[in-house]
Amino acid sequence: MKWDDGSESMLMLANLRKSCPCANCIADRNNRPETYIPLLSSAQLTLKEVKPVGSYAIQLVWQDGHDSGIYTYDKLKEGKY
Ligand SMILES: [Zn+2]
Repeated sequence: MKWDDGSESMLMLANLRKSCPCANCIADRNNRPETYIPLLSSAQLTLKEVKPVGSYAIQLVWQDGHDSGIYTYDKLKEGKY
């Protein structure tokens, strides 16, 4: 992913999916023991669409239909996902 200021961030799709910021996934993660390692299918790790949300975030639509995660540019750029 390239940014307007010319810097570039390597975004790992697996990390993005695993740290999906939507309420469902957060609740899900909170219910797991800390040692839990999620096994994701390829559909869960394949991006279908990236939609801009205003000027501050993007919405990621995954192949498995999950689309409620909104990722802000700030956090993307800081590698917080
Ligand atoms: Zn989610």
